[in-house]
Order: sequence, then C-alpha cells, then structure tokens
Amino acid sequence: MDRFATRRSLALKLLRKPGAEAILVTNFTNVTYLTGFTGDDSFLLLGARDTIVISDTRYETQLEVECPELKFRIRNQGTKMLDSVADVVRSAKVRRLGIEADSMTLAVFQQLGGKLPQTSLIATTGVIESLREIKDKEEVAEIVEAARYAEKAFAVLRATLRGEQTEKEVADDLEHQLRLFGAKGSSFPPIVAVGAQAALPHARPTLRRIDSADFVLVDWGATARLYKSDLTRVLARGRISPKLERVYGLVLAAQERAIAAIRPGVTGAEVDAVARKVITDAGYGKQFGHGLGHGIGLDIHEGPRLSSVNDQPLKAGMVVTVEPGIYVTGWGGVRIEDDVLVTKTGCEVLTHCGKTWADAVVE
Ligand code: ZN
Ligand code: ZN
Repeated sequence: MDRFATRRSLALKLLRKPGAEAILVTNFTNVTYLTGFTGDDSFLLLGARDTIVISDTRYETQLEVECPELKFRIRNQGTKMLDSVADVVRSAKVRRLGIEADSMTLAVFQQLGGKLPQTSLIATTGVIESLREIKDKEEVAEIVEAARYAEKAFAVLRATLRGEQTEKEVADDLEHQLRLFGAKGSSFPPIVAVGAQAALPHARPTLRRIDSADFVLVDWGATARLYKSDLTRVLARGRISPKLERVYGLVLAAQERAIAAIRPGVTGAEVDAVARKVITDAGYGKQFGHGLGHGIGLDIHEGPRLSSVNDQPLKAGMVVTVEPGIYVTGWGGVRIEDDVLVTKTGCEVLTHCGKTWADAVVE
C-alpha cells in the first residue's frame, strides 16, 4: 500500500466513531493529503467501496499523473459541482455520509441535503486533520528541506542587512532568496518588523527603515514542494539597548526550556506552561499574549497547538513550532521560533539557524 492508500484506510477507520460509511472531503488540503493530488477545486468521496475524486476538466491530466490509481468524476462546464457530488454519492449508494463541518458552508450543506434525500449527512470535525498531525518520514524530510531553504535565505538577509533598507524591501528580498535557493516560495507573507512595530505579533512590512530602531524581528518560512517551515529571529544593530539584550535572553531561556520539555506523553498545555513560567517569573507574563506554538505541515498553522487549552498528549511524529515572545507596546517585541519534531524518546530541533545573543547582533 502506498502512503496515500495507508492514510485513506486510517481515515476510514476513524469514520466508525461518528457512524459514517464514507466521507466527502471538501478541504482541498485534506484531499491532497489523502491522494497526492495538488490541484484545487476538487473533492474526494472516500468510502470502503469507492474512492472517487470529483473534479473538472482543467485537472484531468494532472489527476492522471498524480494519482493514476484513483477513479475520477470529471464534470463539464455545464455541470455544477454539487450536482456532480450528489450523482457520485447516489451511485455509490452511501446512506450515511460524513461531511467536513469545518470546511463546508451551511448553504452547501443544506443544498447537498436537498439533493440527497436518501442520505443522512453526518457532521464530522478534524478527522483527516488528526491524521495529518503525525508526520511520516517523507513529510519530515520535506519540512527539513523547507527549513534549509529558509535558513539559507536568512543567512543572506543577515549578511546584507543595511540601515537604509525598508521593512518591505527586506521582506521582498527574503522571498526572492527563498526561491533562488529552491523553495516553491514563502510559506506565508514574511513579517519584517522594526522596533515598536515588532510589538504586533502579525505586523505587515511597511516603508519604515531598518535603522529607525536598534532591532528588527523577522518571522518567515519556506514551502519546499508542499510542506512548510516557520521561524522567527531578531537581529540587533546600531546602539543596542540593555533592555533588548535582557528581554532577548529571557525569551531564549523560555524557548530552550520548553524545547527540553518536549517528548511523547507531555501535553501541549504542559509545554506552554514551561515557557510561560520563565517569562511570568521575570514579570513579563502579560506581555506573552499568544500560545507557545502550533503544528506545521501542509498548512502553516495546524494541529497540535502548544497552548494552555490543549490537554492532548504529544506523540512521536508531530512537528510543532516553539515560539515564545515578549511584546511591549511602544517599545517592540522579541520572539524566537524553531520547528521541533517529537521523537520516540524526546525531540529533535529541525531548524538550525543561530540564535545566541552573538548570532542576533549584526553590524
Ligand atoms: Zn512564524
Ligand atoms: Zn509560527
């Protein structure tokens, strides 16, 4: 069985609990995960008897190349997607059809129900997403590849950073470098935030100059082919304030302690608490307003979360970011982020971009 067939059979087993015979996969990323098909606008009917990709003529050739072992229903321009779906479900004689409640709109749910009076639609959540949390060897290898592209591009940024550059110029250069090194592109629009801007965890690059403060926060990542990396580093330059060095040291200590706590069986909440305690004990608890990290993979944010609300134990094969931060309005913010694989005995940091204070200081 190839890796996609293995995933599909695991997904089918998970459908027993909600009592569905088949599932209509409408989240395109989940379709990719289960089939290897990388196009958009296509659904998958996954059942014990029938596995059918429902797509349109634009993707016919791509489907034949990417998943030749599967059946397709290719609709013409005149046929609506939902009519095609209803037809496939009827032909497959599915009576209890799982749908992805996180992906399907209420309007589509109602329309589909109207077209399939003989079929009960069963709302499911997180079925495929829960499988995606555990990465196989090939997935980990591609995340590592995405990390290497990100690190190489950042090394160029660090070596060429000049005071007169704007946040936007630096961000644009970074994206260009990622592609030159072989990445498909950025895994999300990079954040390049100088000084006070860095207090906003999701700042968008502006025309502010790099030398308008003593530090710049860069949050970036690469997409290799499909899988993503996600890192954050802070670079300090010019007349560096003692406060920056102190806050940086604190965030780094919180991150390193949290990473040391990662192993199978520990919950996302417990890892989050390790980092939060370091920052809270130093008096900055209120200035660390987000969760410690998130899973990465086909999506830049996926399960599991490292946050106070995740009481699920971590498992070997999960890949999470660890990204504590301290944000002070009007002054700025420091965040350090790495990608970490949970292994059978502990964890392995997949990103190797330097993060000591000496690495952070550039001239
Ligand atoms: Zn990030
Ligand atoms: Zn992140």
